[in-house]
Amino acid sequence: MSSLVVFCRDCGKQVTSSQTRDGRCLDCHVRRSVADLRDEHARLWRKRERYAAQGANAGQIGRQIARVEDRIAERIRALVPNDREAVEHLRRELEAARGQRYTIKGV
Ligand SMILES: [Zn+2]
Repeated sequence: MSSLVVFCRDCGKQVTSSQTRDGRCLDCHVRRSVADLRDEHARLWRKRERYAAQGANAGQIGRQIARVEDRIAERIRALVPNDREAVEHLRRELEAARGQRYTIKGV
């Protein structure tokens, strides 16, 4: 079976056609598929900081954040069959999600 080399239409990376979905490489596909959850994660993270700054109990929000992270993990596992790669994708997405608040806060 021959596979075609194509360019990911998001990041331009060269990948074989068998590795793409909708013209995107797996990295970009994962990133897009969890984008809404990442926004949700960032929103909750900021909320928790606000609560913590006011001395309010942020325990409930911490649990919500954990649930969103679980859902991100689930989506990635559904897209990435290889366990080790899935973990790697998850680590990157969570780092990006947790890093978002710094961008937003301008720190
Ligand atoms: Zn890409």
